Amino acid sequence: MKISPEIQKLVPYKAGKPISEVKRELGLETVYKLASNENPLGVSPMVKEALINAMSDINRYPDASYFELKQAFAAFYKMEKERLAFGNGSNELIDLLIRIYCCPGDAILTSEMAFIAYKICAQAARVKVTECKMQEGLKIDVEEIVKAYRPEHKLIFLPNPNNPTGTYLNASELKYLLDFFKDNQDVLIVIDEAYVEFVRKNDYISALDLIKQYPNLVVLRTMSKAYGLAGLRLGIMIADPSVIDYVNRVRLPFNISCLTEAAAIAALKDQEFVKRTQQLTWQGLDYFYENLSKMGFHYIESQGNFVLFDTKQFGDLIAKELLKHGVIFRPVNNYSLPTFLRLSVGMPIENELAMVALNKVLNT
Ligand SMILES: *Cc1c(COP(=O)(O)O)cnc(C)c1O
Repeated sequence: MKISPEIQKLVPYKAGKPISEVKRELGLETVYKLASNENPLGVSPMVKEALINAMSDINRYPDASYFELKQAFAAFYKMEKERLAFGNGSNELIDLLIRIYCCPGDAILTSEMAFIAYKICAQAARVKVTECKMQEGLKIDVEEIVKAYRPEHKLIFLPNPNNPTGTYLNASELKYLLDFFKDNQDVLIVIDEAYVEFVRKNDYISALDLIKQYPNLVVLRTMSKAYGLAGLRLGIMIADPSVIDYVNRVRLPFNISCLTEAAAIAALKDQEFVKRTQQLTWQGLDYFYENLSKMGFHYIESQGNFVLFDTKQFGDLIAKELLKHGVIFRPVNNYSLPTFLRLSVGMPIENELAMVALNKVLNT
């Protein structure tokens, strides 16, 4: 059978190496994974309790309208329920947006070295991708986005803060971009805020606060990072009700499991857990900055729960050596950053071991 060239050339998303795989391959007893920006604290105890209670209903289909989930997020975001949709991770929402708004031959616009899921989903839908240059310091350049825009671009995807660089658009850059496209009804601006909870800069604003002013603005959030629910998969879309309506038509009827629904509602209630996660993350980042500086590595200041730094050597080879010391770092060759590595913040002991391993590998 004939398969389209886009599908033929599709390279699957390269996830961080699983702990079990490294243990098996290298015969190691303990392995620390600092490769996927996961929450090292685990989840709130309230989530575990909610999951146990929800188990008694897993023989039933979930509520297809996600009534309680919607209620919980509407209250938390102070947003009308009509502006909320849910996905199997924000990744599914990215995929749905592309399938809804782009025909084969259309295009999406994003930045180089921006989260790679946009590109993969676009290619799978036979949609073209335009990637703008970044500016100095691996920052997304809103001027370049505006200059590169053509009518063929139906969606503009911008992660804020960005993964893997950890850089961010400040309030004036974000508003400049949204104002530029404000009266354009043929494009949606998608701001992916997967790391919003980790931002420390005070010139950052969440696009959530601008949603009513800009009808073509779409915001994505996730429970995978600060809330520790990566394994349960829940992404949230906040957008104009007309966008939400199309998402609800195209999504599969039960794309969120009842366990995920119960866990997310409980997770939202435990904001203490989020605060602990933030403190741990910020301490970990400062620890990384201090040690990377001491070792003479250039790093990019991060608004996420990870740091990107330059090894000045082949990052994937260094990562391989680091595995032998039981720490999984993330190579970023697939982002055209062959000498860089990305390191997620873990528990203090894991962070320490990561720095020890790095010292050993790069001093031999
Ligand atoms: C991790 C991440 C997500 C979250 O993906 P999920 O599918 O919700 O787990 C989204 N966007 C960016 C930029 C990310 O790094």
